[in-house]
Amino acid sequence: MPIIVFDPHVHGYPIRERKLIEAAMRMLFDPRVSIPNKYDHLKDQVDQSVDGPKGLLVEMDGAQEFDIQIRHAVLLPVSRNVQGVKWLNDLTMQAVHDANRENFRLSAFATFHPSFIADGNDWQGMILGLMEIGFKGIKLHSLTQMFNPLGPEAQKLYGFCERYGIPILFDTYHHPIGFPVPHEMGFHEENSTNVDTLLAIRALFPRLKMIAAHMGSGGRPEDALRLLGMDGLPIIRDTSIELNRYPDSEAKYMLEQEPNNYWYGSDYPAQRMVESVRKILRLGLLPEIQEKILFRNAEQFFGVQVS
Ligand SMILES: [Zn+2]
Repeated sequence: MPIIVFDPHVHGYPIRERKLIEAAMRMLFDPRVSIPNKYDHLKDQVDQSVDGPKGLLVEMDGAQEFDIQIRHAVLLPVSRNVQGVKWLNDLTMQAVHDANRENFRLSAFATFHPSFIADGNDWQGMILGLMEIGFKGIKLHSLTQMFNPLGPEAQKLYGFCERYGIPILFDTYHHPIGFPVPHEMGFHEENSTNVDTLLAIRALFPRLKMIAAHMGSGGRPEDALRLLGMDGLPIIRDTSIELNRYPDSEAKYMLEQEPNNYWYGSDYPAQRMVESVRKILRLGLLPEIQEKILFRNAEQFFGVQVS
């Protein structure tokens, strides 16, 4: 019996082109890189490359060799600034259309930047338009997008999304392996979305559909425990990257405590899909819990049948 997987946390930057992945990582993690100048250059390369979003499909197909069927994935683009939002959303939706020509395999969240709101643009119209053309929600990465996740613009965004039932996926604070601590790279602590931030947002916007990447704690299992046992609408947490950092017993405990509130995520290409699925398998969860984590919860949330 093949292992069925729905992967709600993937990215489109390419893995095989070393130079490209480095450029993408620099864009994401180094605020000194001037983004607008980088775009055209990177866009050409992504378009010409067989990798990028196409590499993602190759990765999904490749898992079959190991009896793992990655049947659907959700792209999570991040534009560091306002100027890149439209370009990246266009590119992402194009990738989704291309991928789905034969089989329905990809969905995507849209990228957004709260500075849009301060600039006096018709941001509400823009968000509704994005949802209309098929985006499933908004992805935010406050640390690298360099905004305060509890600031006034961000709160306007949460209020709007709460009202319209638009999910928001939050990247949570973490120090990527091999990168210096944030303040050494010019990032600010108040821009991180950590467990305290998530709880503050939940208290202000109790009906907002919240998804927290990296189990809500970005590398800090003791913080992730604080999200257990909450009343009301759950904060969905994905397992992306975190299973590398938690002891198996601790990860297993959390997934067993709230099997409806967690789902798998690979964070491809930061982590290969087969490798990250195997980390779920080795926890030895009960079959029904394992199925919820690997596809049933996401299936239900996105309304996309994969089994
Ligand atoms: Zn990610």
